[in-house]
Amino acid sequence: MIRVTVVGAAGRMGREVCRAALEDPGVELAGGVVEPGSPDVGADLGELCGAGRAGLAASEEPPEDAGVLVEFTTPEATVEHLSYRLPAVIGTTGLSEEQRARVEEAARSVPIVLAPNMSAGVNLLLGAVRELAEKLAGYDVEIVEAHHRGKRDAPSGTALLLGRAATSGRGQRLEDVAVYGREGVSPRREGEIGIHALRGGAVVGEHRVIFYGAGEEVEVVHRALSRRTFAEGALRAARFAAAAKPGLYTMQDVLSARG
Ligand code: NAD
Repeated sequence: MIRVTVVGAAGRMGREVCRAALEDPGVELAGGVVEPGSPDVGADLGELCGAGRAGLAASEEPPEDAGVLVEFTTPEATVEHLSYRLPAVIGTTGLSEEQRARVEEAARSVPIVLAPNMSAGVNLLLGAVRELAEKLAGYDVEIVEAHHRGKRDAPSGTALLLGRAATSGRGQRLEDVAVYGREGVSPRREGEIGIHALRGGAVVGEHRVIFYGAGEEVEVVHRALSRRTFAEGALRAARFAAAAKPGLYTMQDVLSARG
């Protein structure tokens, strides 16, 4: 049994993780942190996520004995919450280099899983994309992602992960070859990777990586059909973090660990 505190408990992902935690017999929901000053402070966490009364109030700070923090907020809030010095699973995306460096620093004293995508499918796809990029060396790579209209950051953290998987298969750095959208006169340069973000409606998350050859094209697609897939991945990562030594871990570490 592990204890988990959901940070960003009133958000789309936070509510999904609270619901999954309340339904998982191996997880005890210790608390839920919502944005300071928000009308959700004091709300029942079960009612907030549609799971029925849980007898636990949403708070501005983690409770004592918070267990592992599961964070789905904003990059600014995520970095602020590192000061709690608690084991954490960070699902928040759009962290700058500097914010990521702060996470790395905090992970020297506590275990932190930093995973821009918690789904098992996407994480398996990374290996496939790396191999395709390596084996289909001369093919042009394009990445297209789609998300709901409320997503803040673009391109998605997952699109960047997929881009890094492709460049690692080719011995390149994404920073050197990525082109974000195209406009005006912008012919394709040899080796560039185009990354394109669509935003609209209620799309949970879709990623396509396309390899265009002279006489064929290969496309890998992942569609998240429900946020539940991310929530279950986050709880799996929390189980991993609860038992891990201090350090910075990825979802690949979580999925390759036993149990
Ligand atoms: P959302 O806007 O619905 O929820 C974010 C919540 O964080 C809001 O309720 C907001 O009030 C709250 N918040 C902001 N500052 C806070 C603070 N200081 N303390 C506590 N709560 C605070 O967004 P969302 O769709 O739930 O996504 C959240 C993040 O998770 C985004 O970065 C998104 O890209 C990412 N995400 C990651 C995965 C994954 O698998 N890693 C999956 C989906 C979304």
